[in-house]
Amino acid sequence: MQTLILRQDKPQLEDNAVEAVSKFCPDLQVLDLTKSFKLTDRSLYAIALGCCDLIKLNISGCSAFSDKALAYLASLCRKLKVLNLCGCVKAVSDTALQAIGHYCNELQFLNLGWCEQISDVGVMSLAYGCPDLRTLDLCGCVLITDESVIALANRCPHLRSLGLYYCKNITDRAMYSLAQSKVKNKMWGSVNGENDEDGLRTLNISQCTSLTPSAVQAVCDSFPALHTCSGRHSLIISGCLNLTSVHCACCARPHRAINAFPHSAH
Ligand SMILES: [Zn+2]
Repeated sequence: MQTLILRQDKPQLEDNAVEAVSKFCPDLQVLDLTKSFKLTDRSLYAIALGCCDLIKLNISGCSAFSDKALAYLASLCRKLKVLNLCGCVKAVSDTALQAIGHYCNELQFLNLGWCEQISDVGVMSLAYGCPDLRTLDLCGCVLITDESVIALANRCPHLRSLGLYYCKNITDRAMYSLAQSKVKNKMWGSVNGENDEDGLRTLNISQCTSLTPSAVQAVCDSFPALHTCSGRHSLIISGCLNLTSVHCACCARPHRAINAFPHSAH
C-alpha cells in the first residue's frame, strides 16, 4: 500500500492504529491524518521509524504533537515533498523548522498556517535548506518579519505561491525583495531554459496593514501571473484599505486587455 487517507471530522483514530499502519506499510508514500486530535507523539515516532519513504504527509489540525517528535520525523523522512502542518501550533517551532530545513531538502509544499510561535529563525532555515520550495503558507505566523521573506526571495527561485495573511510585521522591504527576485529568475532562466511564466502566481497579503501601494504595485508589475481583477484574485489584498489603488495590467489598461483577449470581455 502506498496511499492511506484517514482524514476525519470526528476524531476517532488512536495511536495503536497508526502504529499498526507504520509497522505493516513500509512502502507508504502518502499519509493523510488530518484532524486526528487524539493522536500523540507515539504516532509521529512510529511513522518516522516505519515509513521513511513518505513523500506526502498531512497532519493539519493534529494539535497534540510536540516539536521534538516533528523534528525526529523530519530527520528520518527525508524524501518528503509535501507537508501540511496547518494548525500544529505546538509541533511547529523554530527548532522543528530547523530540522525540516536540515533534512528535508526536497520539500516543495509546506503549510505552516496559524503556527504562531515560529519566527524568522525557523523560516530562514527553511529558505536555506529547501531550495525547491514552491508553495509556502505562513498565514497567521504573526512573529515573522521581512527577513523571512527576503531569505525566501533570495534562496527559493521556484517559489510560486506565498501566503502572508495576517503577518502584520511585513513591510515594503519584503515586497521589493520579492519584486527584485523576478529579475534573478530571468537571469537564472536564461541559463536553464526556464520560461517567462516563472515567478509568483499567488500572493496573499491580506491584513498586512503596513504595506504601501507603490511597493505592492512593484510586485504586481514584476509577476504577470498576479492579478487583482475579479475572478482572478491571485494577488489577494482584501482588508488592506490603503491598497485599493493597486491593479493588475488588465485593470489598469482595460482597452488593451479587451484587444488582447476579446472573448474575456463582458
Ligand atoms: Zn487581471
